[in-house]
Amino acid sequence: MKFHVMTLFPEMVEQGLHTSILGRAMDAGIISVNTVNIRDYSEDKHRHVDDYPYGGGAGMVMAAEPIAKCYDAIIGGSFSSGNALSGSEVPASGSDSATAKRRTRVIYMTPWGRVFDQNMAKELAMEEELIFLCGHYEGVDERVLTEIVTDYVSIGDYVLSGGELPAMVMIDAIARMVPGVLTNEESGVTESFMNGLLEYPQYTRPEVWRGQKVPDILLSGHHAKVAEWRMQRSIDRTVQYRPELMDDVTLDKKSAKYYRELCASRNKNE
Ligand code: SAM
Repeated sequence: MKFHVMTLFPEMVEQGLHTSILGRAMDAGIISVNTVNIRDYSEDKHRHVDDYPYGGGAGMVMAAEPIAKCYDAIIGGSFSSGNALSGSEVPASGSDSATAKRRTRVIYMTPWGRVFDQNMAKELAMEEELIFLCGHYEGVDERVLTEIVTDYVSIGDYVLSGGELPAMVMIDAIARMVPGVLTNEESGVTESFMNGLLEYPQYTRPEVWRGQKVPDILLSGHHAKVAEWRMQRSIDRTVQYRPELMDDVTLDKKSAKYYRELCASRNKNE
């Protein structure tokens, strides 16, 4: 899968992503991250990419033209930076920009977008490639957004200085869903949100740490009982920390009975 990131700070994205699991996936050619510096497409002699907002007000706004040119370069495969983070530096979608526009989703990172979650990560991981646009300053001229953006995505209800961290968060979560990125041992199948629940507590050696013992069931070697214990702890944790998630969870008969009993005992204790 190919990720293209339009940014004013390519080094931030490169350094942030080329480590650990994603770094290994890039080296293996399973994913690639191609950062493209929007500033390289400024026609201003000082390489400015921002200007004052029409109508006044604080801050600066990223101008439309450098972003549009940067996008065209990605679509046309002629991006200037050569910052691909994998072995292969592949153009986004060939040279037919009309076809490419239809095919390649362009995600603008913005606090007013739809809030990113695991389901969105799973859905986006089905794409062959994605283009991210990272804003800065007060944001981006609306006209270029209308022209190129297909998805407006936020990573939460707070304001960050730029879209780079949000894009990195999304790329990490999406890449983990791409077949081959996680090894069997790292499999994402049991992770939080994968079945709609939060993950159960995890333990490793030593068996007793500062007087706290690992739950006996995990040492029993009884796989069915361990699975049941983990499911129940997942339900406990979800009910405690994110009760609203329970509305969308489908539980098997046994787990549903456990959940009903848990709710009944919590209601009694309230
Ligand atoms: N003036 C903008 C507003 O009020 O919506 C905020 C601009 S913010 C300082 C600069 C850039 O950071 C945005 O253009 C966006 O790309 C990115 N950004 C900030 N917070 C974000 C969030 N929660 N999710 C996604 N992107 C965010």
